[in-house]
Amino acid sequence: DAEVVLVGRSNVGKSTLMRELTGHDFSTGGKPGVTRQPNHFDWASESFMFTDLPGFGFMSGVEEEHREAIKTNIVRYLEANADSILAGVVVMDGKAAVDIIDRHTERGNIPHDVEMYGFLEDIGVEPIVAVNKTDKIDDLDERLDEICDRLGLYPPWQQWSDRIAPMCAKRGDVEALEECLRTRFHEHNRDDL
Ligand code: GDP
Repeated sequence: DAEVVLVGRSNVGKSTLMRELTGHDFSTGGKPGVTRQPNHFDWASESFMFTDLPGFGFMSGVEEEHREAIKTNIVRYLEANADSILAGVVVMDGKAAVDIIDRHTERGNIPHDVEMYGFLEDIGVEPIVAVNKTDKIDDLDERLDEICDRLGLYPPWQQWSDRIAPMCAKRGDVEALEECLRTRFHEHNRDDL
């Protein structure tokens, strides 16, 4: 199986996306970071395993110490499995992401999303950024360009369509992400020949 991992802050729509991609309900009772269940998903005759790594970044009501422990777990998991992970999908709330990133940067911190994106690249897992909640965004192109900019990708975002996937998980519009994954999958199979 090709493993695809989903990471992202709380409330960006990871569970909704998982449900949309797999047709299964993965709601776990809302304990961020403690549960990590690999879920198998057969998709258009291609076999994917989606792993939800919940709660990277800000978790309301979770103590700093616990938060760090969760993060360490996620990082360890990714490092240990990097060779077999086909893609790391960083899910963002497209409406809020840029403000949150800029706020962290202004305070001298590395924003979690940016950190995770860079980390995935460092360990050789090519990241895909799933920009969710597009239904709440007025000027989508502009917003996607800003997100590219914050990740160190030259705008316009259209030239990164292999790694920037706008979507609206709630309405089931996840085609751009599926296309990114399909491309990765075929490249991966070709490399194996
Ligand atoms: P998670 O914490 O990352 O797993 O996020 P959830 O999947 O639980 O979603 C958090 C909230 O965002 C829920 O209220 C969802 O209904 C909502 N949500 C998910 N996808 C979308 C979307 O595409 N648009 C909008 N407006 N809301 C969404």
